[in-house]
Amino acid sequence: MTRPLMDTHGRLHRDLRISLTDKCNLRCTYCMPAEGVPLLPKQELLTTEELLRVVGIAVDAGVEEVRLTGGEPLLRPDVVDIVAGISAMEGGAGPVEVSMTTNAIRLPKLAEPLRRAGLSRVNISLDTLDPDRFKQMSRRDRFEDTMAGIDAADEAGFHPVKINTVLMPGFNDDEPVELLRWALRRGFELRFIEQMPLDGGHEWQRSTMITGAQILAKLRTEFTLTEVPGRGAAPAELFHVDGGPARVGVIASVTMPFCGACDRLRLTADGQLRSCLFARGETDLRSPLRGNDDPDEIVDLIHSCLAGKRPGHGINEPGFLQPPRPMSAIGG
Ligand code: SAM
Ligand code: SF4
Repeated sequence: MTRPLMDTHGRLHRDLRISLTDKCNLRCTYCMPAEGVPLLPKQELLTTEELLRVVGIAVDAGVEEVRLTGGEPLLRPDVVDIVAGISAMEGGAGPVEVSMTTNAIRLPKLAEPLRRAGLSRVNISLDTLDPDRFKQMSRRDRFEDTMAGIDAADEAGFHPVKINTVLMPGFNDDEPVELLRWALRRGFELRFIEQMPLDGGHEWQRSTMITGAQILAKLRTEFTLTEVPGRGAAPAELFHVDGGPARVGVIASVTMPFCGACDRLRLTADGQLRSCLFARGETDLRSPLRGNDDPDEIVDLIHSCLAGKRPGHGINEPGFLQPPRPMSAIGG
């Protein structure tokens, strides 16, 4: 009998988020410093076979959904094989659902092959509709490539394409209404994410962060928003726009934490399991994978990681410390 992936706070875990690489072709200010972050040594990264092996063990232990992220997951040369391998796995609730969070730059080339390999959904990060602002916020001149990637995802049939936006004061905090109008026109589902203290530059400040409440207030100047019931374990609080069916989401991780319903575990590109984005400890799965490769030992390690999961991320507690790994190396 499989032990359920339950932590000591009664939360059942079904969702595994995997960072495929810590490399990225952008340098978004809220994620990475301009010079980038020191990259993981290549020999420490899980190979395709190791990654599929550990995901298979996690699926047998109770994982039903996998989200691939990074860094930029599309920079990983074996990304299509990874998607194909995971989407062929059977979990307790049927075939494992594989989704991805990406900056879309490589989607013109990869959207179709990924769709054929079994990728079910994509979340694409786009913070602005203005090419100059895009360049300022991501420190790269790749607006046109990102827009082409969004078109490619739409054409490949990833419906609805979901768009993630982080609002930064003085950069794009005047754009939420325009972004939502654009998303509605294109049939995309837009989600605003509060900026979290996970930037490689350690520059996050609560006093300048744009809050979920501020975002909703701006949107309500132009749209009628009504809460969609039944959020479950989803990070986004969803609202119907002007009576629906179109929706917009707000992920207010800092001001309205949703840790009580969390069902997520995270695996880094170098095979370290984390119980939370903000966990300060990690459980090494790479060594046992490269050692005796005993699935029971790996399942025990997954459970020991879960046993240490705290009830909440603690951002709002005195003494909160940002985790040593930045977002780009944990996987958002
Ligand atoms: N490179 C891909 C991308 O940008 O979509 C995937 C990795 S990125 C770390 C995943 C998500 O985390 C993106 O939607 C990004 O906007 C978000 N993100 C990055 N740093 C963040 C931060 N400090 N606070 C909130 N969201 C952040
Ligand atoms: Fe790269 Fe995504 Fe981080 Fe931007 S948010 S720097 S695209 S990993």
